[in-house]
Amino acid sequence: MDLTIDAVRAGVADGSATATAVAEMHYSRIAANDGVEGKGINSFLALGKERALAQAAKIDSMAAKGEELPVLAGVPIGIKDVLAMQGAPATAGSLILKDYRPPYDATAVTRLEAAGAVLLGKLNCDEFAMGSSNENSAYGPVRNPRALDRVPGGSSGGSAAAVAANFAVATLGTDTGGSIRQPAAFCGVVGVLPTYGRVSRYGLIAFASSLDRVGPFAKNVKDAATVLQVLAGQDALDATSSDRPVDDYVGLMAKPVEGLRIGVPKEYFGEGLDPEIRAAIEGVLDGLKGAGCVIKPVSLPHTKYAIPTYYVIATAEASSNLSRFDGVRFGLRDAEAKTLSEMFRRTRDAGFGAEVKRRILLGTYALSAGYYDAYYRKAQQVRTLLTRDFLTAFLDVDALVAPVTPTPAFKLGEKTDDPVKMYLEDIYSVAASLAGVCGISVPCGETKAGLPIGVQVIGKHFDEGTMFRVAQAVEAGQGQA
Ligand code: GLN
Repeated sequence: MDLTIDAVRAGVADGSATATAVAEMHYSRIAANDGVEGKGINSFLALGKERALAQAAKIDSMAAKGEELPVLAGVPIGIKDVLAMQGAPATAGSLILKDYRPPYDATAVTRLEAAGAVLLGKLNCDEFAMGSSNENSAYGPVRNPRALDRVPGGSSGGSAAAVAANFAVATLGTDTGGSIRQPAAFCGVVGVLPTYGRVSRYGLIAFASSLDRVGPFAKNVKDAATVLQVLAGQDALDATSSDRPVDDYVGLMAKPVEGLRIGVPKEYFGEGLDPEIRAAIEGVLDGLKGAGCVIKPVSLPHTKYAIPTYYVIATAEASSNLSRFDGVRFGLRDAEAKTLSEMFRRTRDAGFGAEVKRRILLGTYALSAGYYDAYYRKAQQVRTLLTRDFLTAFLDVDALVAPVTPTPAFKLGEKTDDPVKMYLEDIYSVAASLAGVCGISVPCGETKAGLPIGVQVIGKHFDEGTMFRVAQAVEAGQGQA
């Protein structure tokens, strides 16, 4: 699929391409197909050409001098609009942050640039990363490049669509309850949820802090592993980042999968799973068996509680995190109000969209004195049980294989009237989020109608190496099919 990281870096290194030309080519594709009077993909909210082209020029001059090039030299990468880039807009898909420009870079941004990446601009997403279809963005929905009348998934819809449309070689997204894995599956690209704590969140606009993670989208598993390698590792600016040493993902990935034990959680194959997705995942399992893996049924018995647990915890944390948007420090401020509390109210009323307001209300309720024990504390207890499900399963298996989503990409507008229907989209993604384990979505076929299907590989905490190894085997199996 078009340009990969290795292709860009090799081209820039041997002089057959320049980072500047590669960046310009991606910008011209964006100009031709992304905006186009509301009919395009609508993945980019802002382009940062000046900074991108300055970086490209720097890489080109290193190449001209024959200097050793960093691993992402000249690779065009887009950034979800919840991550800070100094001086660039950071709207988080919300009106309340329309004119907000952070004065600093997120650590993920700093690390990509230090590795030579050319950062093209900021990508559309659901408002404050709340959603499963990108239809909650204040700046319009994103279209799925594989089927323009369908959603790209969410909340990192712009990040998935930009890779699928070849507007970028890779992108960054965030995943709180599926927001990288689900759009990756809908758009037919690879998306990685790193272990909680593996990637710094400094400079991330927080949604639910016990769940939020930053991770890459890419065109193939190796590129995704390469980008994660750059992002991963402790950061003094984020106390929740782990000090565990980072494994050599690309090295580990090269090992054959023979002998690995793959668990198949039976709760992920019940009622409601689209038959074409089921068949595709069964094909993946056959392929892994053929490659010498041992396939074992496992049980994650509390799975049915994952969605209610997630929607209590995520909304509770969101109600607390979003209290900082009050018209005083960031973005929008109502000019008509006569008193301070009226200014808070009017700013928040005008600045937040319907889904964000719903979640602030739900979360505030779950945390309120009379209901805390019944909702928030209970949800935390169930979260522990859900985590134990994974730890128990991982005593017997090295990785899990499951669907990412119950259905392929749905039509724009199909679920917007029914929040619960939209929340049910997250059935196979939120448990891994609550448990903190790592996961990846890898394309594994198409429906008869030509819509992409993704398969999820879930790994143990900090065992991205094994996760990538299995993902790579899945991808190789697709190549042969
Ligand atoms: N769809 C889920 C939600 O709406 C997940 C969002 C995310 O991972 N950011 O909360």
